Amino acid sequence: PPVLSVRDLVKRYRNGTLANDHVCLDLFPGEVFALLGPNGAGKTTLVRQLLGLARPTSGSITLDGVDIVADPGFARRNIGFLPQGSFDLQSLTVAETIEFAARLRGVPPREARAAAARLVERLDLGPFRNTAMHAASGGVRRLAGFAAAVAAPARLLVLDEPTNDVDPLRRAVLWDLIAELGRGGATILLVTHNLAEAERVIDRLAIMNAGRIIREGSPAALRGLV
Ligand code: ADP
Ligand code: ADP
Repeated sequence: PPVLSVRDLVKRYRNGTLANDHVCLDLFPGEVFALLGPNGAGKTTLVRQLLGLARPTSGSITLDGVDIVADPGFARRNIGFLPQGSFDLQSLTVAETIEFAARLRGVPPREARAAAARLVERLDLGPFRNTAMHAASGGVRRLAGFAAAVAAPARLLVLDEPTNDVDPLRRAVLWDLIAELGRGGATILLVTHNLAEAERVIDRLAIMNAGRIIREGSPAALRGLV
């Protein structure tokens, strides 16, 4: 069965904008799935509903068979999320941010610290370990945000433009880590404009436009269309 199942999802904002127009989507265990589309296509709206941060107008969303429209807390506890843009907890250091994210999702203190140390090492963030988030570069903040999203076990990882602002060297490290998480059985939804870089790690992709999924398939099948 799919980890995530979206059925006929409709989101109409109060001003009348139809941002999601009968979206259907299934993500299977261990799949790395990319969601592409121009600005305004409805990607953020879809993601906010998956995370239980916005309520659908109609349709259903289940995570591991649990109705997350009825139980948005289940989504928030079981989805690792890297939002677009920057972090609110700007007074924490890079390492503290990662550790705190793990603690929030129920990881015990000692393990949260170990997970943070491991991710700092893996993402080559050692020199910035004790840098406050507000003093770090956009790229370092992005990597810390990524580490925060993957610091606790999750049923689903949602990564919104994971490599934005990240320098080319660490960008490659990041894609390697995403590929490795996928091979390790993580189910990953990537929202990205960067198909050229993402292509090598994704199993399937969908293209959204004007609130609808207009194409879906393997990167090979969709080559030339995107
Ligand atoms: P993205 O960069 O993902 O396309 P947007 O620029 O569409 O993000 O949206 C940024 C924020 O502004 C989101 O929280 C979104 O809900 C909100 N927003 C976007 N368009 C509108 C709008 N027409 N009216 C009110 N809020 C909007
Ligand atoms: P994307 O993430 O693909 O750029 P969004 O989901 O942010 O797309 O936006 C989809 C459509 O919904 C756009 O027309 C946007 O302006 C509109 N929109 C987004 N958020 C809001 C909001 N809070 N209120 C009204 N319209 C919104």
